[in-house]
Amino acid sequence: MCRIDRTWSLGDWLNSSDSTHFLEVTLSYESRVFKQLSLPKREEVIDALLTALLKRNGYVKEFGAGNQEFVNHLADSLGLSVNQRTFSMQTIVRREGRVKKFPAWHRLIFRAADLAARRGLLSHPKDTLKLTGRREWMLTEKGIDKAMRVSRIPISRKQELPVLTYEVQKIKKSLDEARPIRNYSPVDSRKQSREITTQSLLRARGFRHAIVEAYDRRCCVCGLKLISPDAMVWEVEAAHIVPHRFQGKDDIWNGMALCRFHHWTFDVGWFTLRQDYTIEVNSRITAVPRDHGFMGGFDVFRSLLKADRRIYLPQKSSICPHENAISWHRENIFADLTQR
Ligand SMILES: [Zn+2]
Repeated sequence: MCRIDRTWSLGDWLNSSDSTHFLEVTLSYESRVFKQLSLPKREEVIDALLTALLKRNGYVKEFGAGNQEFVNHLADSLGLSVNQRTFSMQTIVRREGRVKKFPAWHRLIFRAADLAARRGLLSHPKDTLKLTGRREWMLTEKGIDKAMRVSRIPISRKQELPVLTYEVQKIKKSLDEARPIRNYSPVDSRKQSREITTQSLLRARGFRHAIVEAYDRRCCVCGLKLISPDAMVWEVEAAHIVPHRFQGKDDIWNGMALCRFHHWTFDVGWFTLRQDYTIEVNSRITAVPRDHGFMGGFDVFRSLLKADRRIYLPQKSSICPHENAISWHRENIFADLTQR
């Protein structure tokens, strides 16, 4: 949105000299324009805005000429006419002493976003800036819940959506920036309870986002990168090296991004990692019946489990899998199985 110190309609400016009424006059001028254009109510714009953010990873920078694609998408979803989209309001930027024009529709989106932020449905750009270093409107947990209700997406799907809310972003940031500990334990021995809490669900989403993003949304073994047709769900999963069922922690050093096939084969011990991040395939592979692992005549199983290849790693070495997590998997899942 364009930066305006004090906005006023040109007519109001000429007819009054009482500066204490600036805001009041501006708002009444705006409401009059919104009404004359029959623009949607702010409530409707909020719903459309939250729904659009749900499909765009949860954040947006601005609602002006610099983000025409987004404001057009919102206008389309609300069925606005050409006149409603383009009608310009004029204001006087007092400090600069000039008249400025901008679409009333852009102003309405800004007002709706501002109201949504005051209701806790979005984080205000000044707050997001402190967290991410970027001035963006970002969905909050309250906002994503409302967006999912409006879009009729079951709330149970929240865990798999690629949307980053303000709260999840906070957890992701702490995971990304954590410094590795030499005698790190990937097992949380205090985690006796399997109780699922709001906090544990948030932490799980923070873990998933941190891992999936660190590995560029690719399987670190085969490189597969794929998203659903509605652009809502990535194929790749954030796998725990020490699984949850063994009290594995939701730490970035206890995870890696794997496709469904490599997630399953890793979890059941068909392969493990060496400390140099190369793959060691279970020797039992030679005993697998010859008719297993084929898909349409192609030997998927043996072709996708190549020994000695090095996995793809995140650029930052501080967030690569921890040697203690790798050792745990080798000793408790992989070796245990081969010695049986
Ligand atoms: Zn894979």
